Amino acid sequence: MRRGLVVGNWKMNGSLEFIENWISQYTAFLETQTETAICPPYVYISFLRNRLMTSAIHMGVGAQDCSVHNDGAYTGEVAANMLADVGCSFVIVGHSERRQYHSESNEMVAMKAQKVLEAGLRPIVCVGETLEEREAGRTNEVVLAQLNAVLDVIGPEMLVTGALAYEPVWAIGTGKTAIPEEAQEVHKILRDSVKSRNSDAGDSLRIIYGGSVKPSNAQKLFACPDIDGGLIGGASLKAEDFYAIAQAA
Ligand code: 13P
Repeated sequence: MRRGLVVGNWKMNGSLEFIENWISQYTAFLETQTETAICPPYVYISFLRNRLMTSAIHMGVGAQDCSVHNDGAYTGEVAANMLADVGCSFVIVGHSERRQYHSESNEMVAMKAQKVLEAGLRPIVCVGETLEEREAGRTNEVVLAQLNAVLDVIGPEMLVTGALAYEPVWAIGTGKTAIPEEAQEVHKILRDSVKSRNSDAGDSLRIIYGGSVKPSNAQKLFACPDIDGGLIGGASLKAEDFYAIAQAA
């Protein structure tokens, strides 16, 4: 049995005051059986972690990206080692917003996943097709190329320490969620591909779905056999919604 995983990606949102409010709202709820984590902007990682540690909430903290370098003259970048140093457990790599706005290639995403593992952290590797690619019937080809570039570098056993996230680009922040059958189909293709390299790793890998997940659609998505939770953008900014989504996984 794979334990549910629900991760909030706050993207470039939040403030100290926002975090105080989010935590006090979240503490109004009970714990869930699902594993949960929040990935705030880098500058808030330590603050959020400290606030969580002094609260009753059992929740991990992660980052939204990391550098391909360990240290040195790379202005503005943050190394995976530094994220480990401040208490992150997860690092998202290959988010479509990084691929799109920062021209991250499949090879760069694979290098980042390797850096995350070298730092002793757990990578959440994102894959997903654009609307254009889906309409051209290229979904499987695109997501498998994204996945295989990472597996070629880190191997299936190491991906299992983190998670794979399927986030169709056309469903991110658009309010257009993939229907559960559409998402399940891609999740199964991804799992089968990991299984073809290592059957046990394929079985135990958590594959989470992202793209306009809300409390109202989470249950149906997470009920699919190969969907093990979610990567939540907009809805994770509301403590109540994030909790409801975690409950559904
Ligand atoms: P939304 O949930 O806002 O669509 O964002 C999904 C996402 O990109 C999470 O990484």
